[in-house]
Amino acid sequence: MIVDYHMHTPLCRHAVGEPEAYARRALELGIEEIGFSDHSPMPVSYDPDWRMSAGEYPSYIDMVRRCQKAFPGLSIKLGLEADYHPGTEDFVRDVIAAHPFDYVIGSIHYLGDWGFDNPDHAHRFETQDLHAIYAQYYDLVARLARTRMYDILGHPDVIKKFGHRPAVDYEPLERGALEAVAQSGMALDVNTSGLGRPAKEIYPSLRMLKAARSMGIDITFGSDAHDPKRVGDCFSQAVALAKEAGYTQFRRYAARRFDLLPLP
Ligand code: ZN
Ligand code: FE
Ligand code: FE
Ligand code: ZN
Repeated sequence: MIVDYHMHTPLCRHAVGEPEAYARRALELGIEEIGFSDHSPMPVSYDPDWRMSAGEYPSYIDMVRRCQKAFPGLSIKLGLEADYHPGTEDFVRDVIAAHPFDYVIGSIHYLGDWGFDNPDHAHRFETQDLHAIYAQYYDLVARLARTRMYDILGHPDVIKKFGHRPAVDYEPLERGALEAVAQSGMALDVNTSGLGRPAKEIYPSLRMLKAARSMGIDITFGSDAHDPKRVGDCFSQAVALAKEAGYTQFRRYAARRFDLLPLP
């Protein structure tokens, strides 16, 4: 059995395909369980063009429920991808508490006012010190973990998305963040979307996954599909990576609790 816990809906304004199309694709591929994790509402000043509005939030829940009813033979979880951004914690806490989620993915998409994972703004990687950027990113990851608001760390090393890597060793930054993740009890999202980006790697890297494994951190799997065609994309590679890092199990979530299943 395998699960895909990271997929989006058109409500975020940058994904295509109704949830039913994602579910159909999962059935075709023999994926037994999926979960939707669309970008959560945030305070209006934060990234409004890339997510559902607070007014659209109920329709997201309805959409996932409708899909669950349409596919009784497929296990479909209600998840959410909620940003961590200092200063928005109270808002996000209320957003998470508003519905009975199976899991909540916590992700970082901004360093200050810089949407670093947006290709239109990636030029900033060329004019700033990469080690300082990575340090800022991993500091935010640690702070995300310490909030205890989220179940899963989304695309753990997404800061590498456009292929910019510091010349000096940044493993200590990864390990520092992972220690906070380990303490929080969160899992890592082994996310295949990085393979199609300039980084050309799964998030997280084998190095980071090995470190996570040594700290007792569990994993889940996600395609981060913004198109039904990407459901379960490259999952055999993701499972192979997890095994190479020493994993034998992954987490399945329900009502924000998990059990462990053997890797296929
Ligand atoms: Zn997205
Ligand atoms: Fe994300
Ligand atoms: Fe996502
Ligand atoms: Zn994502």
